[in-house]
Amino acid sequence: MKIPRYIYITERKRETMDAFKRIFKIEQPKKILIVTSTSTAKKVKWITDFLLTDEIPAEKLLTEKNDKDVLKKTKEKIKNGSFDLCIGIGGGKILDIAKYASFSEKIQFLSFPTLLSHDGIASPVAVIRDGKHWSESRRANSPFAVIIDIKVVSDGTTESILSGTGDLVANLFASIDAEIFKEKDLKAYNKLSISIARAASLLVFPHFSKISVKKISEEDLKKLAKGLILSGIAMSIAGNSRPASGAEHKISHAIDYIFSPSVSHGYTVSIGNVISAFLHNEYKSEIVEFNYSLGLPVLCDDVGIKKEEFIDVILYAGKIRPDRYTILEEKKLTEKEVIKLLNEIEEVRGRIRGRKKK
Ligand SMILES: [Zn+2]
Repeated sequence: MKIPRYIYITERKRETMDAFKRIFKIEQPKKILIVTSTSTAKKVKWITDFLLTDEIPAEKLLTEKNDKDVLKKTKEKIKNGSFDLCIGIGGGKILDIAKYASFSEKIQFLSFPTLLSHDGIASPVAVIRDGKHWSESRRANSPFAVIIDIKVVSDGTTESILSGTGDLVANLFASIDAEIFKEKDLKAYNKLSISIARAASLLVFPHFSKISVKKISEEDLKKLAKGLILSGIAMSIAGNSRPASGAEHKISHAIDYIFSPSVSHGYTVSIGNVISAFLHNEYKSEIVEFNYSLGLPVLCDDVGIKKEEFIDVILYAGKIRPDRYTILEEKKLTEKEVIKLLNEIEEVRGRIRGRKKK
């Protein structure tokens, strides 16, 4: 089990640079590869400039995608350049490429997210794209260090913060799945990891339903950052993504697979959170109110998918990874039951909408 040895949540440029320096002083890397994208390199030029002019030799590799070709290129670069530390600077795609390439080439990986859009920032999982529609979750190592500069991530879009929030709240429902169906896969069950994942989600749930993400405070951003890091740690301890991925992620994967919607991961997960809450009969009105107040989708029509089409999504979701037993496999919903479930959610959403408009 590998969990991050260094975690820094910083507020000022100076503090961020000091965090890097402290890690370098202890770890003494000989050659650093910075993996980032063109737009990110421009946005946080001060950090790439600092790393490139520091006394440790460093090179920059610009990349925009997280597909197999980019992965191959990054791995070759690491191998041929004899790098011993890789620093990923960017959003999910960049971090995933840097994380997996470092893991394959057996070098250290430092994660410097510029967005808080999902829990991959500190997790042992990397998503690598294969073709247009399909992406593959691969097991890697967690970063050995994570530095989150709150000023940098606060410049991210509202959508990225909402996405990270939805992905973190998923832990609450994933942990219910993991706990009540532990007998179905005792090997994957790890009580500590489930408690950590659950506690991480409670850093934002339900409290965030009272805030405006457009004017989010640094304190609340820190809670989201800590929660996402803890979520990654929970997965590392468990040795799998179970503490942070249950029925709600199956719904999200099914939506992605069938529709490839142009919304962030945490948005489709948020729809999954609602479905899971209603199937488990837990936090039903709380999660609808939470999503609705924040501007996260409650049901598929909030992301432009028709109700009739969504029925197929739920039926399909129950067939993804049957070894990971969740409330979907337990309920084995029929089409009729799915319609009843969606009607019930619509009713609660309507009630909350009406109350908020008053
Ligand atoms: Zn996720």
